Amino acid sequence: MTDKGTPYMSFGNDEINSAPDLTDPVQCHVCKGHHPAQPSETRGDGPATVLQFIACDKTGKTYLVGINGKDIRGRGSGGTVPDE
Ligand SMILES: [Zn+2]
Repeated sequence: MTDKGTPYMSFGNDEINSAPDLTDPVQCHVCKGHHPAQPSETRGDGPATVLQFIACDKTGKTYLVGINGKDIRGRGSGGTVPDE
């Protein structure tokens, strides 16, 4: 694996469906504190509920924690697609 290119994450539908429900607030995997789950940007008439994030005030970073209300941390696979 190279550190150049475009990073990606992938999840199978079965993998998401079998994941535990995401709690709200979410216990942070970094600082162990609790942060409110935030939906991805609003689209159309209401909030998009596909992706959930937490903003950690200890690290100042935002983390993807959920897909469709399921806790996907530690699941899926990822890597880097080399740039052409
Ligand atoms: Zn945190």
